[in-house]
Amino acid sequence: MEKCIFCMVARGEMSAKMVFENEHVVAFDDIAPQAPVHTLVIPRTHYASMSDSVPVDVLSAVFAAVPEVAAIKGVSDSGYRVIVNNGVDANQTVGHLHVHILGGREMSHGMVNFEGK
Ligand code: AMP
Ligand code: ZN
Repeated sequence: MEKCIFCMVARGEMSAKMVFENEHVVAFDDIAPQAPVHTLVIPRTHYASMSDSVPVDVLSAVFAAVPEVAAIKGVSDSGYRVIVNNGVDANQTVGHLHVHILGGREMSHGMVNFEGK
């Protein structure tokens, strides 16, 4: 995907604050952090979302990176929230599968905010 911004980050064509990389995934800090720690994990290969027939080895590589990233960011013990926004109703804004890791502060108890909708 030539124009996909996360593909560009994965290829090193767009700058990002890299946190972790291996042959399958790249993790980098979110450009608009919503918590003191807000890092994204993406597969190097383009998949639009969880619904894009993602092979199990790719899913497993993405989720296996989550605790590694949490450890690097220093939130393994304090805890963190893991979020995947998938598709329109979830307000996914970047069409390249990504996992949000949020931490460094206490989160609200509820998992969703419907903003009155
Ligand atoms: P989502 O709404 O789940 O699709 O999340 C997309 C996330 O990507 C948002 O939290 C954005 O702040 C973040 N984002 C967009 N562009 C970039 C970028 N170039 N580098 C890092 N994070 C980005
Ligand atoms: Zn992509």
